[in-house]
Amino acid sequence: MATPSAPSAKTGPRRPDLDSLYCLNEDGSRNTIHPADVKGRYQIRKKIIWTILIAIYVAIPWIDINGNPAVLFDIPGRNFFLFGATFNAQDFYLAYFVLTGIGFSLFIVSALFGRIWCGYSCPHTVFLDGVYRRIERFFDGNATQRKKLQAMPWNAQKIARRGAKWLSFLVVSAVLSHTFLSYFMPVEEVLAAVTHSPAAHPVAFTFIVIFTAIIYFNFTWFREQLCIVICPYGRLQGVLYDRDTINVTYDTNRGEPRGRYTKSREADERGDCIDCQRCIAVCPTGIDIRNGTQLECIGCANCIDACDEVMEKVGQPVGLIRYDSQRAVEEGARRFLRPRVFFYAFLLLLGATVLSVAAYRRTPFESNLVRQQGSPYVVVEGSGAVRNPFFVHLVNKQPREHTFLLEPVEQAGVTFTVPIREVKLASTTDQSVPIFVEVTADAWQPGMRFQLRVRTADGTLERTEEAVLLGPAR
Ligand code: SF4
Ligand code: SF4
Repeated sequence: MATPSAPSAKTGPRRPDLDSLYCLNEDGSRNTIHPADVKGRYQIRKKIIWTILIAIYVAIPWIDINGNPAVLFDIPGRNFFLFGATFNAQDFYLAYFVLTGIGFSLFIVSALFGRIWCGYSCPHTVFLDGVYRRIERFFDGNATQRKKLQAMPWNAQKIARRGAKWLSFLVVSAVLSHTFLSYFMPVEEVLAAVTHSPAAHPVAFTFIVIFTAIIYFNFTWFREQLCIVICPYGRLQGVLYDRDTINVTYDTNRGEPRGRYTKSREADERGDCIDCQRCIAVCPTGIDIRNGTQLECIGCANCIDACDEVMEKVGQPVGLIRYDSQRAVEEGARRFLRPRVFFYAFLLLLGATVLSVAAYRRTPFESNLVRQQGSPYVVVEGSGAVRNPFFVHLVNKQPREHTFLLEPVEQAGVTFTVPIREVKLASTTDQSVPIFVEVTADAWQPGMRFQLRVRTADGTLERTEEAVLLGPAR
């Protein structure tokens, strides 16, 4: 890929092209992008969505449902709490269906509406544009002032402004990192870690330091490069699009040939684009959407609002840049539902059905009969009775404490020794209880089975386990 020259007096200001990344200079150094301010209907929608998303992100760790956090991925304890439901390691296979479901949902959304997820709800965009750029605007001013400040030599004013901005970024990064940790550790424990010495909570402290550093680095410096260079979804989108995908699109038929605005413009043969370059100035990835759909476009709609504003000023209809498909712009025809959309929807539906069935069949507690280590059976000297030692392993997956009653199902010639018949288990805890099954010599038959009924003391949950007894051949 060619890399462009930095702007010079000779060549004039650099313009985005299709052969190079605008965020890089020829020597590989960073070409910092300073998107200009923009107002418009999509900005209002985005601000509302971002405010709601940030509020949800910050609030969720503080919400309790049935005494457990609304969302908590307790990795060391191998328990996952999701809006009142409790999952443990045995349910981990469900994650496969959830993740593929999210993937197929993104496939459908991308095939229909391009990179709309990136512009409106990706956490990277939400925090970068919704929080960090606003702080930057507060300390460094608008795009022109920011460029001036960047070019300025380090003096007291620049040190003060940059210092205040970077300190604010650090505080916000620390808050986001603590909030993120609250999805993996109950918020009370995060607060305890914050208010005590790092030595008392080394894991939490290390997590917070590392994530604060990553968040700070990303939102302070790396920024749009994450979308362009790292994000796998950004890479994938090229194969999800087709000519009918609704993207942020420049209407070439209407806009070209572009040319500077003049009063006599209506009389000439030029298109509606007055080449004001506002659409480039507001773009957070620095591209020129008039070059066509590009990998760097995150679908933020800044250029739509900017161009609409320009069109209103010059008395032309808005929508020169708009959400539309390539086919609609070129041929005037729209095709919303296509084979690929049905195919992705079919895969999603299939996954959702399997997930629903699996979730429905998921048991609220686990009880498994496991043979004790050592000899699987003993023949009692004298009586000839056959004894099998087992453990019953209980896991309470419910969000509250339960007392489990162990009740062997009576069977002729079989006696049960159950040292503990009532097992009290707190939410998400487990316990193994020994159980001995003895069959008289007369009743013993190879292949015999026995049953153990496990139920909660309140009678709400019950299941019956069964196992084969081992013993000598007859
Ligand atoms: S903002 Fe609109 S009129 Fe101005 S350069 Fe971009 S497309 Fe052309
Ligand atoms: S081209 Fe338009 S929609 Fe795409 S990233 Fe730039 S401003 Fe946003």
